[in-house]
Amino acid sequence: MDVEEFRRLGHEVIDWIADYRARTARGELPVMARIAPGEVRAALPASPPAEPQALDRVLEDLARVIVPGCTHWQDPRFFAYFPSNSSLAAVLGDFLSTGLAQLGLNWQASPALTELEELTTDWLRQMLGLSDAWSGVIQDAASTATLVALISARERTTDHGSARGGLQASERPLIVYASGQSHSSVEKAALLAGFGRENLRVIAVDDAFGMSADALRRTIEADRAAGLSPCAVVATVGSTATTAVDPLEEIAGIAHAQGLWLHVDAAMAGSAMILPECRPLWRGIELADSLVLNPHKWLGASFDCSTYFVRDAQHLVRVMSTNPSYLRTAADAKVRNYRDWGIPLGRRFRALKLWFLIRDQGVQGLQQRLRRDLGHARWLAGEIDATHGWQRLAPVPFQTVCVRHVPLGVTGEALDAHTLNWVRRINDSGRAYLAPAMLGERWMVRVSFGVEATEHEHVVALWSQMRDEAERGG
Ligand SMILES: *Cc1c(COP(=O)(O)O)cnc(C)c1O
Repeated sequence: MDVEEFRRLGHEVIDWIADYRARTARGELPVMARIAPGEVRAALPASPPAEPQALDRVLEDLARVIVPGCTHWQDPRFFAYFPSNSSLAAVLGDFLSTGLAQLGLNWQASPALTELEELTTDWLRQMLGLSDAWSGVIQDAASTATLVALISARERTTDHGSARGGLQASERPLIVYASGQSHSSVEKAALLAGFGRENLRVIAVDDAFGMSADALRRTIEADRAAGLSPCAVVATVGSTATTAVDPLEEIAGIAHAQGLWLHVDAAMAGSAMILPECRPLWRGIELADSLVLNPHKWLGASFDCSTYFVRDAQHLVRVMSTNPSYLRTAADAKVRNYRDWGIPLGRRFRALKLWFLIRDQGVQGLQQRLRRDLGHARWLAGEIDATHGWQRLAPVPFQTVCVRHVPLGVTGEALDAHTLNWVRRINDSGRAYLAPAMLGERWMVRVSFGVEATEHEHVVALWSQMRDEAERGG
């Protein structure tokens, strides 16, 4: 493809995306893909074309095969999982990242890439009301950031044991603590960082699904008494099932007194901290060692854009750095080399999409949208509380409402079947998309707000459909 053909097709692709976004915003497509496993592959040739093909034909296949095989995350009636907003300004920033085709191996390899990442993560720090003791880096996903955090914790507790015999040489097992409501990425990180499942303590939660600080303290003391080596606590602000908040201030007090690393997983709800009225929920955050939040969820900076903040950047660099001769430059002493702030060497220009997003909407625009979404959740919670036969299962600190419809006398597995049935009917209708989840032993339905296009009318329509489908039974 030459530059002129790129120009022609590029305009077409932008038009195509604009049309697609307009259609999803109007809710013209079924929200959840209506497709059987294998259907997408079966509709396309199994072998690659030997001869070049016109990309116009590829665009035809996109409309014919790919779009029907997509679940539409930007549809205003998408209430599943957590939002994965991709604001149109961020889409443009991401295009430019690919178009500029920078590879940030070190500062010298793309000074602008490094410095814009420093700047945008610092803008975000200010937006979140964090002190200037924090410095940020953009990672692909929260799972990676949490892995980096646990490796950093391990290395602090062992005084950089990986430079010697690593965990193979340690006599006393290192222990990680997280609540039973923490994200699956915490367990995965603990396993990948070499702690071992036996050394991950699952701490009990209270009635609101936040970690019990008392249980944490007792477990740490028991482990120490048993000759083990408590190493890190992962606290969650905005858990995946119910957006529960662990009591950070108390947990931080315990972690400090015991010399443990405190990592805060605020992947989803961290974005809410651009609202000063939400910040009491993470009081104590300044006492944490590391923090991850995903601007690629609610905030709108197209996936992948996960921001990882640390208070001791020198420690992070010491743990993550490698310094082969071919990557050294004369500028090294004066600059940030982000390859030493995480696992991959190469990095793309992710800061562009965050920069475009923040400049396009301004802090106030972002705040207004998030406040609107908090309002959606409060409204639905109020309706549920006021309606006979419906139960709200958890507090609503952010944008997710957990709910069950309980017909008279229906319990246990029959209740699960009822829950899964009415959700399936809604999802099959194509008019909304909800994801059920387990809470304790039983299924429930999470209604997660936050898609950019979702307005009050969509919430009203959803509630009406929920009542129709659940109350008619069957
Ligand atoms: C989404 C989420 C994660 C995982 O995020 P990825 O960026 O997909 O790895 C981790 N923790 C919480 C609380 C989340 O909401």
